[in-house]
Amino acid sequence: MFEMAKKSKLKTPDWMMEGFDSEGDYNKAKGITKKKKEKTFKIKECPKCGSDDVGVVIGEVGVWECKKCGWKGVDVVEKELTEDELMKYMDEKGEGVA
Ligand SMILES: [Zn+2]
Repeated sequence: MFEMAKKSKLKTPDWMMEGFDSEGDYNKAKGITKKKKEKTFKIKECPKCGSDDVGVVIGEVGVWECKKCGWKGVDVVEKELTEDELMKYMDEKGEGVA
């Protein structure tokens, strides 16, 4: 029940002090909407031209190709974006979000 205590050595969390079973219960009772771990989107980009119009090469494990510039390789650029960042990214690319 108190396994969370190990992670917070400095201060006993409020929810524990007030006898709640979990931080979630506490937040719910207090009406606290805590930002959860943000949902992220993984995107892949061509290392050569920066286009996200990349796809795996059928029949070749781990090999990617860029449909825009024709680049082919394994070191595709992987990015992890939050929803906000993704929106911004789409804006910059000039693509609308469906
Ligand atoms: Zn490319």
